[in-house]
Amino acid sequence: LRFGPVPATVGAMAALRFPDRIALYDEKGHLTYAELERRAAALATVLAGRVGDGGRVGVLCRNHRGFVEAVLAASRLGHDVVLLNTDFSGAQLGEVAGRENVGLLLHDQEFDEVVDDASFGGQRVHMWRDRDEGKHPSADELVEGVTPEPRRPARAGRTIIMTSGTTGTPKGAQHDIGLGALLPAAVSHLMRVPVRSGAPVVIAPPLFHVLGFAYLAVGIGLGMPLVLARRFDPAGALKAIEEHRAETLIAVPVMLQRMLDVPDGPRPSALRVVVCGGSALHPHLSERFMDEFGDVLHNVYGATETGWATISTPEDLRAAPGTVGRPSFRLTIRILDEDGDELPPGETGEIYTGGGLKFAGYTGGGSKKVRDGLTGTGDLGHFDEQGRLFVDGRADDMIVSGGENVFPGEVEDLLGEHEAIAEVTVTGVEDERFGQRLAAHVVLKEGHRLTEDDVRAYVKRNLARYKVPRDVHFVDELPRTSTGKVRRKALRS
Ligand code: ATP
Repeated sequence: LRFGPVPATVGAMAALRFPDRIALYDEKGHLTYAELERRAAALATVLAGRVGDGGRVGVLCRNHRGFVEAVLAASRLGHDVVLLNTDFSGAQLGEVAGRENVGLLLHDQEFDEVVDDASFGGQRVHMWRDRDEGKHPSADELVEGVTPEPRRPARAGRTIIMTSGTTGTPKGAQHDIGLGALLPAAVSHLMRVPVRSGAPVVIAPPLFHVLGFAYLAVGIGLGMPLVLARRFDPAGALKAIEEHRAETLIAVPVMLQRMLDVPDGPRPSALRVVVCGGSALHPHLSERFMDEFGDVLHNVYGATETGWATISTPEDLRAAPGTVGRPSFRLTIRILDEDGDELPPGETGEIYTGGGLKFAGYTGGGSKKVRDGLTGTGDLGHFDEQGRLFVDGRADDMIVSGGENVFPGEVEDLLGEHEAIAEVTVTGVEDERFGQRLAAHVVLKEGHRLTEDDVRAYVKRNLARYKVPRDVHFVDELPRTSTGKVRRKALRS
């Protein structure tokens, strides 16, 4: 996803409007908006000329001030910024950095080896160090004593965001958008999500992912103190919300699940808005979360290619648990069958979106299906009679067993309600007789026991026979991407 000239402009405006307000908290302490802007400007001053013409700046950082400074500095210099996934192997990083023409890499010291393995030939700067000594210069060393030079780049840098890589190596999604397209998206979001200028926000998902990055832009734009932690830890997140009296929390569903499961975890009273997205929010999780934290939950559905497509409010979620809500302002959603015909409420087909952010293919080539100007999401879903959208699952994940279609989500929702089950994923594995059979990977709650037969019997009591997992595996944890999505491919193999 390429944002227009937003980051540098938004950062500079926040520094003008709220100079003394706290811009962010991280493990090193806090910075005001004026300090953040001064540090980004000093970094831009020392980095000027280090990236060749047309070259891009790669950012490979966890959530901390260095990430924010890197993005603001590069964008100020007029360079495009490529946000890199902290899960990348050396080979993946090498491939993406080469494809995206990255000439300067701003990264955390902990990724030294990954960058070495990527055979990256450009310049490197450490944005965060765990050890005192470093074999590359650190941003802190570089900016010491530097007076920021005022600069007005000929063009403002864009931001390139990768997809999550759930189905392969992350792809860069191209959009042609400036403030003209972003503003309606932001306004549409704010119409339904009552966040407040100046109120602290805990951003738990990685900032390089579209959900975290969008909230970085919203947060800075509204002058909200951003509460960041390098690694997500559920007890730590609850503590941070209490300590900073955060009103807003951004998270992916598995993070909410883990926060609920913290023994004797606090239920901070200042929390008014929770924005969750990136993967399916199971109905039992949304109910349980709101029972314990109040009616504060908003579920956003979208993709790197489409931006925010729908939002459900707490009222939507109470009335129809599991819904992803209604389309964003100026965004069209249609459910189409395989022939491209629109389906009525209640019937499942592929979700197509149009309007909003226009997707213009991937940076490495390739595109998604387009029909009548609408882009296919690869997700299957349906509307209800009230115009609320439900995502039934990714088309790729649908299991066809003995000629019957099974959405893993339906079986996962049921098993997720079981008192002994903490997390569960259902996948299809090849089967000689049925084409595919269902396999469940189950993580048990501490102190609970179940047998394979217990799991099968429970599903059999509640769902059709062909939805019963024939294979049941008990595992300690599920393999996930850094954006919290289960790596189904890894489980299948
Ligand atoms: P890749 O394209 O690299 O395989 P990805 O599709 O996971 O990765 P993203 O753009 O981060 O990359 O994810 C978008 C997808 O995430 C959507 O198409 C949808 O399947 C899922 N998703 C996002 N938000 C929600 C939500 N609120 N409910 C259900 N599914 C969601």
